[in-house]
Amino acid sequence: MVLFGLSGVAALEAGEAGEDGSYDLDHVVQETGTRLQWDPYREIGTLWNGSTSVRFRPGSSVVLEDYRTEHRIAGIERHNGSLRFSAEAVESFKSIFAMPDPPEDGPRVGAIFVDPGHGGKDPGTIGRHEIDGELFQIREKDIVLGISHKLVGLLEQRYRDREIVMSRKDDTYLTLEERTEAANSVSIREGEVILFVSVHANASLNSRASGFEVWYLSPEVPRDGLVTQASAGVNDPQLLSLLNTIRDEELTIESILLAQSVLRGLDATVGEFTDNRGIKKESWYVVREAKMPSILVEVGFVTNEEEALLLADDEYLNKLARGIYNGVNNFVKDFERRE
Ligand SMILES: [Zn+2]
Repeated sequence: MVLFGLSGVAALEAGEAGEDGSYDLDHVVQETGTRLQWDPYREIGTLWNGSTSVRFRPGSSVVLEDYRTEHRIAGIERHNGSLRFSAEAVESFKSIFAMPDPPEDGPRVGAIFVDPGHGGKDPGTIGRHEIDGELFQIREKDIVLGISHKLVGLLEQRYRDREIVMSRKDDTYLTLEERTEAANSVSIREGEVILFVSVHANASLNSRASGFEVWYLSPEVPRDGLVTQASAGVNDPQLLSLLNTIRDEELTIESILLAQSVLRGLDATVGEFTDNRGIKKESWYVVREAKMPSILVEVGFVTNEEEALLLADDEYLNKLARGIYNGVNNFVKDFERRE
């Protein structure tokens, strides 16, 4: 499969409807937060956000979700060599990729905590490159703050009834303890969980190393105090310890699922530009102390000149934020559907 040129109708501003009230493909891709694959031989397009895929063919109103669920969407046409979508078709695509409302009872994500790494006197890792005789410098603390603001913007738009919290909103220095304490002190209702998403950028002595990866907590490092005497209503220390172990394992599994989902989301939005380095596990302090499903996203290498230039590009940061957002969204969707 090759990627379809998103030329659309050049004269139109992005998101603006044409004279006939129809939209171009770029608009659909943006509105759904997906990536498009186009099969030129069969004239079949596939929109994908990391977990859900939707196949369509211009001139046909039969649209296939995840290769099995059929939807009827009229108004997908080829016009003067580009694809046009009716306003109804755009809305239908959006609703397929949108999230259902969470069930009244059952597990629910009550809050999402976004943690841009470093800040203030701690710049994080720094990329220095000489490009055309000029020094080009990029700092981790700036990149991750930019992505986190975009991510929070998307999350706030989507989850109006949930708390979206940032560890830092500007160039402030915070210790790791302050970050996890802040995350652990977000108040949620009983039966709800908080998701913890830390955003970082990578560095390597190997200047060719590139790509994104997602970390989760290693199960070899148990978290203490997840279940307390007060919260469980039991006094038996052995039982408390057992309950704590069970909750710790649950958290680890949820963290792995969240990590996998965010990795797929990133693969969908930036996989064509850089490497997918996969899921990693280690006991990062900031993740270990957070008593919630926790991941750490490494968005790319500032030490790789090509990637450093991507990380300096606001459009690329949009793609990274959208990828993480799709991953979080898909995790929430699955988590809240769980029995
Ligand atoms: Zn970092």
